[in-house]
Amino acid sequence: FLTGKTAIVTGSNSGIGLGVAHQLARAGADLVLNSFTDRDEDHALATELATEHGVTVRYIKADMSRGDECRSLIEQAGACDILVNNAGIQHVAPIPDFPVEKWDAIIAINLSSAFHTTAVALPLMRKAGWGRVINIASAHGLTASPFKSAYVAAKHGVVGFTKVTALETAREPITCNAICPGYVLTPLVEAQIPDTMKEYGMSRDEVIEKVMLERQPSKEFVTVEQLGDMAVFLCSDAGAQITGTTLSADGGWTAL
Ligand code: NAD
Repeated sequence: FLTGKTAIVTGSNSGIGLGVAHQLARAGADLVLNSFTDRDEDHALATELATEHGVTVRYIKADMSRGDECRSLIEQAGACDILVNNAGIQHVAPIPDFPVEKWDAIIAINLSSAFHTTAVALPLMRKAGWGRVINIASAHGLTASPFKSAYVAAKHGVVGFTKVTALETAREPITCNAICPGYVLTPLVEAQIPDTMKEYGMSRDEVIEKVMLERQPSKEFVTVEQLGDMAVFLCSDAGAQITGTTLSADGGWTAL
């Protein structure tokens, strides 16, 4: 049902962004994939998704830590019916030791990029007479953990920005919402398992249940397919009056 629509997903050569891109393409949307690299494999990924789903897929390099590149990503795409602000990074350290450059990078990539892309995308959505802005926030957009000051501040900021975007578009066929995932087993998270097993002398299952999913009552990871399907749902007619809110997929984390 998304045939003819263009979806731009920031930070989509891996993990959740790639999962969301797959589900939007499966529903018929043409895609713009993005990351800050410009490797052959990035462009090969675009060809792979195009072949798999029978849609048009472009890969556009743009560094989401830079406002001008965020804006030029949307300009280069030329159309933007669905904007998924997904690019994000993490750094864990106590506040007095938190490296200033990491704070600045997290605020830029995880929060300010959404402002820059949305600023250029909204006029395109208005011209097309329809639009969906989907911000990938986090359970950390609603609650906090120690040592994640920049990430938690940025994700709470994304939730606030989501509400303002929704209010500024409330009288138009445009919605803006934030999806708040708990722990998702992306390649990034998977890569941490062997080291954590060594560190704690635990089995893989123990690391997953006792360390990683400590705060996720379901004791199961959220999948990128589930998050992609939530994005597709927000693009459906059922989502037309869902705006300015957060949708959690966190196995009960924020119910604790
Ligand atoms: P990931 O590392 O697999 O993906 C991050 C993506 O962002 C990659 O495609 C990466 O290339 C891209 N990216 C990083 N810096 C960039 C930059 N400067 N410019 C452009 N692209 C850049 O991680 P993920 O787990 O898929 O995370 C995606 C989003 O989901 C992030 O916003 C993250 O905060 C959020 N999230 C993840 C989890 C989780 O458990 N994995 C939970 C909640 C929210």
